[in-house]
Amino acid sequence: MGIVISELQLNIIYDHAENIYPEECCGIILGAIDQFGKSAVEVIPTVNAWVKPELVDDLSIVEEINRTKHSRYTIAPEDIFRAQKRGRDLQLEVIGFFHSHPDYPAIPSTCDRDRAWEIYSYPIVSVIQGKVSDLKSWVLDNKGVFQPEQIQID
Ligand SMILES: [Zn+2]
Repeated sequence: MGIVISELQLNIIYDHAENIYPEECCGIILGAIDQFGKSAVEVIPTVNAWVKPELVDDLSIVEEINRTKHSRYTIAPEDIFRAQKRGRDLQLEVIGFFHSHPDYPAIPSTCDRDRAWEIYSYPIVSVIQGKVSDLKSWVLDNKGVFQPEQIQID
């Protein structure tokens, strides 16, 4: 099992990760699943919806949000619904969620673990000083522990 992804799709992920740096980027991967694994067909960059500081009045909370935005991501429900609808239209399904780790290795955090589901792939891009430096994909095993997933570039 692994995930097959084209160079074109990878470049969309890398561009998004570098453009959003030093914040954490995220997005949805549409594709197909068969007995050999997953194949990515379309990558949809999304906005990191992890609380918008401009919606908060309390300055101490704004600081906290700005701090944690570098290590957390949330995909807005409407973005997920839109991706699911697009998937249905194209006869694809959501096969995973990618995000970036600005100035941090491509290793899942406990926060990533807490919100992960077994059926999805979780590619993480490490962006060091604004440049993509690593990509690793992760899947949960049946004990709920993240294991590296083989990435095959098509
Ligand atoms: Zn993460």
